[in-house]
Amino acid sequence: MKYDYLIVGSGLYGAVFAHEATKKGKQVLVIDKRPNIAGNIFTEKIEGINVHKYGAHIFHTNNKEVWEYITQFAEFNRFTNSPVANYKGELYSLPFNMYTFNKMWGVVTPEEAAEKIAEQRKEITGEPKNLEEQAISLVGRDIYEKLIKGYTEKQWGRDCKELPSFIIKRLPVRLTFDNNYFNALYQGIPIGGYTKMVENMLDGIEVRLNTNYLENKAELDSLADKVVYTGPIDAYFNFSLGTLEYRSVRFENELLDIPNFQGNAAVNYTDRETPWTRIIEHKWFEFGKDTDGNDLPKTVISREFSSEWKPGDEPYYPVNDEKNSALYMEYKKLAEQEKNVIFGGRLGEYKYYDMDAVIAAALERAEAEIL
Ligand code: UDP
Repeated sequence: MKYDYLIVGSGLYGAVFAHEATKKGKQVLVIDKRPNIAGNIFTEKIEGINVHKYGAHIFHTNNKEVWEYITQFAEFNRFTNSPVANYKGELYSLPFNMYTFNKMWGVVTPEEAAEKIAEQRKEITGEPKNLEEQAISLVGRDIYEKLIKGYTEKQWGRDCKELPSFIIKRLPVRLTFDNNYFNALYQGIPIGGYTKMVENMLDGIEVRLNTNYLENKAELDSLADKVVYTGPIDAYFNFSLGTLEYRSVRFENELLDIPNFQGNAAVNYTDRETPWTRIIEHKWFEFGKDTDGNDLPKTVISREFSSEWKPGDEPYYPVNDEKNSALYMEYKKLAEQEKNVIFGGRLGEYKYYDMDAVIAAALERAEAEIL
C-alpha cells in the first residue's frame, strides 16, 4: 500500500500534521522509534497520577485559533504555572513579581521595587549582548545572582555570558502581585493526560511504534510519496556537516508514600551546587486529585538533571547560540533540496518551540502543503 505521507515522529508536530492530512483525505502512516506515541509530551499514569515522563509540559497560548484547535482533542483543566524558586533554602515566587521583590529586598510598593531595579540595572549600558547582561538589565544583579545565574548555567551547561539573551526573555517581570508564569490568555493541562490527547489526534490513523526511520530509511521511504520528518535535522543528513548541540535531560523519578512532598508542581533549585535544576511533583498539575475528584494518597516526584546531549541520549533543547545557529542554517539549505521531505518541530527545525508554536507551525505547513 502506498501512503501519501509517512510521518516520522508521533509528537505534537507529527500528530497535528497527520490529523490534518487525514482530514483532507490523505493516506497517512505515522511511525515512531519509541514504544509509545506522543513524543516528549508523553504522560504515563502511575498510582492515578499522570506523570510527564519527558519533562513538565504546561500548555499556554495567546493564539485563539490554536486553543480552539487543541481543545477539540481534550478538555483542559485550569492549572496555572506558578513555580517556586528554592535558593539555598530561601523560597521566592516566580516569575519575577512583587512577591519576589518583597522577599528579596523588603520593598513594599511597585515604586520602591522599580527604583531598586533601576539602580541595579545601571551597570549595563547599551544593548545587552548576552544572557547575563539581558538578565541584569531586566531585574538587576541580586535577582540575577540568586534566581537566574545558577539555574541557567546548570540548564545550559554554559556561562551566562555565552548564551543568547532571548532565552531569558521568556520570563516575565511584573510590578504586580501576580505569580502566573505565563502571559497567556489560555492555559491548562489536558484532563486525562497528554497521551490521551495525542491518541485522539491520531484516531483512525495507522501508527507503527518501535520503528526506527533512519535505520530503515530506503524501505520506509518507498511506502509514501512524501515524508514529514520531526527528528533531529543533523541526524537525517548523517551528521555530514558536523553535529548540532542539544541539551538533554535526565529524570530520577520517585514514588513516595506521602501525600505532599513540596506543595507545588514545580520547584526550581536556582543555586549552582544542587545538581538538579528542578523537582516536579506531578499530582499538582491536576490539583492532587484522581479522575473522580478524590485526594491521591501517594505522590510521584521527578528530579530533573540537565546534561550535554551525546549519541544515545534524547535531545530536548536546541542550543541556539551563534555557532549552532550558523550550522543549522547550513543544514537548512540541504533540507530545502530534499523536495519530498518536510522538516518540522523542535528537532526538525532546531528551534526552542513551545507547544502552541509547534501546533501553529504544523497547521500552517499542512494548510500550505495539502490541497
Ligand atoms: N530561568 C532562570 N531561573 C528560573 C527559571 C528559568 O534563570 O528559575 C531561565 C533559564 O535561563 C531558562 C529560561 O529562563 O533556560 C527559560 O526557562 P523555562 O522554565 O521557561 O524553560 P523550559 O525549560 O520550561 O522550557
